[in-house]
Amino acid sequence: MVSHVMNTYGRLPVAFTHGEGAGIYDESGRRYLDALAGIAVSTLGHAHPRLVTALAEQAGRLLHTSNLYRIPEQERLAERLCALSGMEEAFFCNSGCEANEAAIKLARLYGHERGIEAPAIVVMERAFHGRTLATLSATGNRKVQAGFEPLVTGFVRVPFGELAALRQSLEYNRNIVAVMIEIVQGEGGIYLASPDYQRAVRELCDRHELLLITDEVQCGVGRTGRWFGFQHAGVLPDVMTLAKGLGSGVPIGACLAAGRAQGVFKPGSHGSTFGGNPLACVAALTTLAVIESDALLANATRVGTRIRDGLAQGLSGVAGVREVRGLGLMVGVELERACKDLVAQALDAGLLINVTADNVVRLLPPLIFSEADADQLLSVLVPLIRDFLAKAA
Ligand SMILES: *Cc1c(COP(=O)(O)O)cnc(C)c1O
Repeated sequence: MVSHVMNTYGRLPVAFTHGEGAGIYDESGRRYLDALAGIAVSTLGHAHPRLVTALAEQAGRLLHTSNLYRIPEQERLAERLCALSGMEEAFFCNSGCEANEAAIKLARLYGHERGIEAPAIVVMERAFHGRTLATLSATGNRKVQAGFEPLVTGFVRVPFGELAALRQSLEYNRNIVAVMIEIVQGEGGIYLASPDYQRAVRELCDRHELLLITDEVQCGVGRTGRWFGFQHAGVLPDVMTLAKGLGSGVPIGACLAAGRAQGVFKPGSHGSTFGGNPLACVAALTTLAVIESDALLANATRVGTRIRDGLAQGLSGVAGVREVRGLGLMVGVELERACKDLVAQALDAGLLINVTADNVVRLLPPLIFSEADADQLLSVLVPLIRDFLAKAA
């Protein structure tokens, strides 16, 4: 059969029909353990009863109005996100790249307000910020950019985690208005910004009066065991972006501002037709409510530690394993060789995982993942990686 879907993805030959919790079922009724959550999206797993009910009720009331009017659900969500994060105001959109577009536009506006005509933003090596023109330009992966030149200008790249390089570019480039960073690099291969580094970046941003923008599209909303990744370091960014896990599968993104970023966007600065509509906001409000009531932050920490410990133990001394790392339910296993094949092998074994940056096995299970789920994951994945490395050697 000829597919009329544009050919932009390498897809696995499986389609899913329904799910329940951390389980997802294919067309033949086979159950898989979902340790990927649609790439950090399905925070509450599949078909969470409270989310199902909340969405059904909202769909029966009102799906969409417009940002031409007040949207009480959006006001409540902004209030809730600010209370949880310490940020001051939120703009809503529909995806991660849009949230980052908003952050980039905000930073440029901030620069222009200060008389900088060609504002530049410091971004990191291995960063991933999205696939729109501005966000792919900010992304530190040539594969994402190739063929789409000319890129958007106004980005300066430094190595992730290296303070000296950042300090130097801030000294020499007077056009810099912001530093944009993932607290945990996701697509880049699960690399953590250390708390010391984050605090030092915050200090540098303050000294130079720059915006600190944290892209928490993948690591935010409880995934690392705190509501937001920056909270591990006790810093507060000026801008934070969210998306993936925020709506537990209903598309929603957010760009939050505080400090010197607060009030930069004014009526007419930015907009979105769908952004923050009642359905999406109810999805996010329910996601946050369940994370809180079901203690899913503590669960992410506990189960994430169990997964990392189990992997470290099961793979200790295995040739070809470079490192097991992560924070909460954001876990990476870096191998010495490319390991894309592991994804299909895991699928055959009834497990959904991902490989990123060529050689990093990435796990992003739903926050409802139980210790029993973790043990099942380990019992499948550890032998799979061992066999893969034994055969490849
Ligand atoms: C996935 C991701 C994005 C892009 O999100 P989309 O919803 O795909 O546009 C941006 N930043 C980070 C850190 C991401 O992981």
